[in-house]
Amino acid sequence: MKAQRPPELMSSPAIRIQDLSFGYGEGDFELRIGKLEVGRASSAAFIGPSGSGKTTLLHLIAGITLPQSGKIETNGVELTGLSENARRAFRIKNIGLVFQEFELLEYLTVLDNVLLPYRINAALELTEAVRERAANVAVEVGIGDKLSRYPSQLSQGERQRVAVCRAVVTEPAVLMADEPTGNLDPRNKGRVLDILFDYVETSGTTLLTVTHDHDLLDRFERIVDFKELLS
Ligand code: ADP
Ligand code: MG
Repeated sequence: MKAQRPPELMSSPAIRIQDLSFGYGEGDFELRIGKLEVGRASSAAFIGPSGSGKTTLLHLIAGITLPQSGKIETNGVELTGLSENARRAFRIKNIGLVFQEFELLEYLTVLDNVLLPYRINAALELTEAVRERAANVAVEVGIGDKLSRYPSQLSQGERQRVAVCRAVVTEPAVLMADEPTGNLDPRNKGRVLDILFDYVETSGTTLLTVTHDHDLLDRFERIVDFKELLS
């Protein structure tokens, strides 16, 4: 699984944030970051108290939301200058997201859940090669024999692995996981991280993970503590 990236972008870091300021329309929450860079082919853990803005920052880096001021460059693309459509196209091509609640569709099989990005985004073409890749990642994470099951017929750990497969099947340059181990027992926690880190190693992807599991932090190259970031 090798992510395809234009070579001219490789010299920039995967994430570069400068003088960022963000607030929601309502409420007095404010996220301010002077400078934050995360290198390519590396891993960073976002830690900090609940409500400190970890999920908000992932959304800004993915171009889901825009800051009031400042710059956000993800995979060499300055997001704040792009229209909503352009950011959506950017996201489809560059970002893989694993949500805390997995967000699997109960009426689709495991295989169709993994292939979902190709079903909902016209920009992604569902080719034979993609189907093969989907089957291969499923085998790699240990759910290769469960492709025709439905999510309700899977264990929690297996559901999580489907979500991981779906996030990596498009070969994203940036892989994001928002508390991916939140609901898992220790053995499955370790397994999910193994899968994410294996992918980072083989693909050159950058991994951004929000986590509350301090016993998992040793595995990350970089720890971004929101308590310090925001002070
Ligand atoms: P974390 O992921 O670190 O727990 P979040 O990024 O989810 O924190 O939230 C940061 C703050 O922004 C919280 O105070 C939260 O209530 C607020 N917030 C999150 N989403 C919205 C929204 N859509 N509208 C208004 N406030 C929000
Ligand atoms: Mg959160």
